[in-house]
Formats: sequence, C-alpha cells, structure tokens
Amino acid sequence: MLRVQALSKSYRLNRNRIPVLKGLSLEVCSGEMAVIMGPSGSGKTTLLNCISGIDAPDDGNVILEGQIVDYNSEYERTLLRRRRIGMVFQFFNLMPTLTVHENVALPFMIAGQRGADSIARVQEVLREVGIKQRSDHHPFQLSGGEMQLVSIARALVHRPDLLLADEPTGNVNPRVGRYIMEILRRAVEREGVALLMVTHSPEHAAWADRVCFIKDGTIVAELHQGGRRDDVALIHEQLLRLNI
Ligand code: ADP
Ligand code: MG
Repeated sequence: MLRVQALSKSYRLNRNRIPVLKGLSLEVCSGEMAVIMGPSGSGKTTLLNCISGIDAPDDGNVILEGQIVDYNSEYERTLLRRRRIGMVFQFFNLMPTLTVHENVALPFMIAGQRGADSIARVQEVLREVGIKQRSDHHPFQLSGGEMQLVSIARALVHRPDLLLADEPTGNVNPRVGRYIMEILRRAVEREGVALLMVTHSPEHAAWADRVCFIKDGTIVAELHQGGRRDDVALIHEQLLRLNI
C-alpha cells in the first residue's frame, strides 16, 4: 500500500542545511499497523508530513498503491489529503469555531459533498468512536481525550487507504489512550486501513504488527510481532539497546 524509498529531507538554518531524513525507507501494507519509535528530533513528524504532502521530500519516492506521488504538484498533494490519507495529530488540530459535527464534516465540505449521505456518514463515524452525543459541542467544551476522538473521526470519515497518526495518545489519559488504540486497531482490521503511527509508549506500540525504530533520520531496527500484545518487554529492551 505505502512504500517509502530512500526519502531525504533537510531544513535550511541560516546558511546551513540540516539533514533530518537521511534516505529513509519503509513499507506498510493494507490491513497492517506499523509503529515508529524514536527520540525527539529524530524526524518522525517530518516523515509523516513528507508522506502526507504537508511538507515535500527533497529526494526519494513515496509510492501509494504502486503510483509515485508527485509532490511538486499542488493539486496532487491536495487530492492526497482529501481522498486517500487521514491524519491524526498530537494536538488534535480541530477548528475551534466549528462544532464536533462540523469538524468531522469538514473534509466533505471542502470537497463540496454536502449531501444526506455525507451527513449520515459523519454521524456513523461519530457513533463508532463513541462521541456522537457530543455532536453539537464545540472543542473547548470537550476534554483532551474527547477532542482526540473527534479528530480520529475526522481522519476516518472519508474512508482513507492510509492513516497517519502522530503521537495520537500523547496528550490523553491512559484509559482513553487504550480506547484510542482499540479504535485504530479496528480501522486496520475491519476496514483494511494501512496505519503508520508514531508513539513513545511501548504499551501502545505493542498493538502494532511491526515496530520501526528511527534514529537520526533512518530506520535502525525493526521488530515484527504480528499484533501480539505481550511483546512490551521486547520493545522496552530494543529501546534500551538503541539508547532511545
Ligand atoms: P520528531 O517528530 O522525531 O521529534 P521532527 O521531525 O519534528 O522530530 O524534527 C526533526 C528535526 O527537524 C528537529 O531537529 C527539528 O528542529 C527540525 N525541524 C522540523 N521542522 C522544521 C522546520 N520547518 N524548519 C526547520 N527545522 C525543522
Ligand atoms: Mg514529532
């Protein structure tokens, strides 16, 4: 589903170029959950932003369903986020002036789809994440955990092939964190979404089929575990070994 090949990205700082991604490669299949773990500043957010088209890689390719994404095309980048990719951010990124329903309907609004089936789909996905009773509330009336559930609903509403989640449990309490993992895992298993998630939590990483460890802009180790939830100790061990 997703193939990242030798991706490079650097940022300019005064006269210098600071390399952030250094020829990074990875793959995620449909119906597979892959996790990225690594120290702060290792390039995790940059990687997700380069895949989603929020940012553009300098070199290397991102291949979605066998097609190379052309990041030079503003049109293709927009379509990518509108149709094929769902995104969940650490700090939710909800629109404060819109209600819960309107926030989740936003991808449809932008695409000009305002029909009854779009409204029904918004309500369905709000029910699936357990936040439907909050439809008419505004983000400031919600807890952090509830805001993240809304942002997950928004990411799933248009049935994306690929879900990118940047520390989705980083700012919610452990109970909600576990609930979020259940929802994400269900999207992978029932809808065949390919999920690429960044987390610092070994407990949440253990829900993945595969854990990729990133350091200094490249993948330095991988752990295949087939969704077994008893591998937390192995993940801890690897983090210690890699000094992450
Ligand atoms: P992580 O998500 O793993 O903590 P990031 O991908 O956010 O790391 O950042 C990696 C490095 O790139 C950091 O050193 C950060 O300061 C730098 N960086 C990220 N975005 C920008 C930017 N827009 N301009 C300049 N430097 C950036
Ligand atoms: Mg980050």
